[in-house]
Amino acid sequence: MTDVTCACGQVALTLSGKPILSTECLCSDCQQAAVVFQALPGARAVVDDKGATRFVLYRKDRVRCERGQEFLAEHRLTDASTTRRVIATCCNTPIFLDFTQGHWLSVYGALWPEGALPKLDLRTVTKHAPAGVVLPDDVPNPKTHNFSFFARLILAWAAMGFRVPPHDYVKGKLNAR
Ligand SMILES: [Zn+2]
Ligand SMILES: [Zn+2]
Repeated sequence: MTDVTCACGQVALTLSGKPILSTECLCSDCQQAAVVFQALPGARAVVDDKGATRFVLYRKDRVRCERGQEFLAEHRLTDASTTRRVIATCCNTPIFLDFTQGHWLSVYGALWPEGALPKLDLRTVTKHAPAGVVLPDDVPNPKTHNFSFFARLILAWAAMGFRVPPHDYVKGKLNAR
């Protein structure tokens, strides 16, 4: 079991079992959301110097909000977007990314203490890497989402009986664009 918290500690998640994957996402949506989040008062950097957002993917039924759920607010890049990013409004720390129809949550890597992050498996959507960025070749750098990305997600879903568990504890909304 792993406990991770927002920067100020008022929001805590308990993560059980092994993560599905440990990734860096270079997609333009994650970069756009990072610009919004990093502009909020007291926010820390969300993307690194490669334009990458660090995530650790967990089954939805293995992520529990231990405390501070009253601070959670969802953000969507457009009103029509089915993808939401959930932020802790106590200190403006992004908490997780939720493809709402999906069976997993991508928990922001910044929640882990220095040195405690699960080892990186791959980078995704590197075709959107900012101009001039040279990615290290320590892990696969697929242009979109590669076969192993989907294979790991589908294996996890099979283990869940192909169900999407209800996930309803985020009540707030963040309207920043
Ligand atoms: Zn906080
Ligand atoms: Zn992304």
